[in-house]
Amino acid sequence: MTDSKGGAEPSVPGGTDRADGPLVEVRDVNKHFGELHVLRDVNLTVARGEVVVIIGPSGSGKSTLCRSINRLEPIDSGTILVDGKPLPQEGRDLARLRADVGMVFQSFNLFAHKTILENVTLGPLKVRKESKETAEKRAMELLDRVGIANQAQKYPAQLSGGQQQRAAIARSLAMRPKVILFDEPTSALDPEMINEVLDVMTGLARDGMTMIVVTHEMGFARRAAQQVVFMADGQIVEANSPEEFFTNPRSDRAKDFLSKIL
Ligand code: ADP
Ligand code: MG
Repeated sequence: MTDSKGGAEPSVPGGTDRADGPLVEVRDVNKHFGELHVLRDVNLTVARGEVVVIIGPSGSGKSTLCRSINRLEPIDSGTILVDGKPLPQEGRDLARLRADVGMVFQSFNLFAHKTILENVTLGPLKVRKESKETAEKRAMELLDRVGIANQAQKYPAQLSGGQQQRAAIARSLAMRPKVILFDEPTSALDPEMINEVLDVMTGLARDGMTMIVVTHEMGFARRAAQQVVFMADGQIVEANSPEEFFTNPRSDRAKDFLSKIL
């Protein structure tokens, strides 16, 4: 796969290429749903090649933060920069942003009436205008990489949950994203399938993919993350290295949360 740290491709032809700046910067972001203040002055910096794990109680704003970063949700105030550029409001730039920022959901979100191969080639054909031959060749390489090349001609419902989620990861990779957001990617899986998905994610992390991962899998956080971010009530309460966070949580909220899940 493309090395996200290589910086070989300028981010935009003619645009400012800030190959050594942070890949994602969230600055003073606020977001409301009606009366509910779901993101409160959120600040987060994600370096190139970094894996950030976001944890926190249900309803703390983790999904909203992820969705804001690829503009599935508009924000009320503050700034989000991806590769040095503010998020676009609409139009073609938004399609490019969605290509740059991959997203893997809890519920896989594969197209049920398309084969696994078609699911993976759809974006490259439509958005990246790749030829069918190029898109299929690369899709097969990616399916091989996530260990399901032999499932390429099947439909999503014929695959296990773990295989479907690995297909969703391959689909995301096919767009050559600069960063991938994972929102509880293993929460809908039967326990025996969790590791096959985490193993793929750990491999991506090792290869230098920049990743923001919302998860309750603390083993993965310890193994793969450089930064653990703890959210509660729409705020980032603590952000630290996994080692420091797990052995020496500072806030009562984090201590309480860890005591319940560890
Ligand atoms: P988490 O992912 O940490 O569980 P979310 O970001 O999904 O939290 O939600 C944060 C808060 O915002 C919750 O109280 C949730 O009910 C609320 N919320 C999320 N999405 C919407 C929406 N589309 N409309 C109204 N409220 C929402
Ligand atoms: Mg969520």
